[in-house]
Amino acid sequence: MAIGSCVALLAWGADTRLVLLLVGPPGAGKGTQAEALTKNHGLPAVSTGELLRAEVKAATALGQRIQTMMANGELVPDDVVNGLVARRLAQPDAAKGIILDGYPRTVAQARYLDQLLTQRGYPPVTVLHLDVPDEEVVQRLAARGRADDKPEVIRERLKVYTRETAPILEHYRGGDLNRIDGTGSPEEVARRVDRVVRAKLSR
Ligand code: AMP
Repeated sequence: MAIGSCVALLAWGADTRLVLLLVGPPGAGKGTQAEALTKNHGLPAVSTGELLRAEVKAATALGQRIQTMMANGELVPDDVVNGLVARRLAQPDAAKGIILDGYPRTVAQARYLDQLLTQRGYPPVTVLHLDVPDEEVVQRLAARGRADDKPEVIRERLKVYTRETAPILEHYRGGDLNRIDGTGSPEEVARRVDRVVRAKLSR
């Protein structure tokens, strides 16, 4: 473990819990940054997209219900993802906190999460908004090649982000909302993210 990470963990008081939200358009690097944060700070990272893809792959009743929505770049219903997150948050490894990647994605989800965290004694969220211009996002996604990374689906996912998800930034204004320049290499972005998170841990 890097010395910096040890220091961060030592600085972490016994009752310091951290809920980090990675918010940004598809292709902003949320998954990559979530992974780096897990490595550096030991918090579990949860991607609702991954949880949902696992349901589709396992062809569960839920998976069959949401497959077409996901393939078309639409959001799955709030109650579905809210339920998945509530269950995941109850697992022991989330006691110290959690990194949420791709959730909340609607204002209704953000409100649900606020309530859930309060009920379970977590502090208010720290939002890490990865800001990347649309042109760069389109280029990155075209290079990634996931099933929902086809040009027409990318366009739909970007529209959905602007319409449904960007408003959650307004919801968190007045809270702990941190805009982070998401352009550049993953390592550069990780350094910017880490600076913000370390500042929280040393408060
Ligand atoms: P992602 O891996 O985060 O890009 O998510 C892939 C797809 O999963 C999205 O395009 C949505 O169809 C679905 N999805 C992931 N997270 C959510 C969420 N919080 N709310 C609704 N749908 C979601």
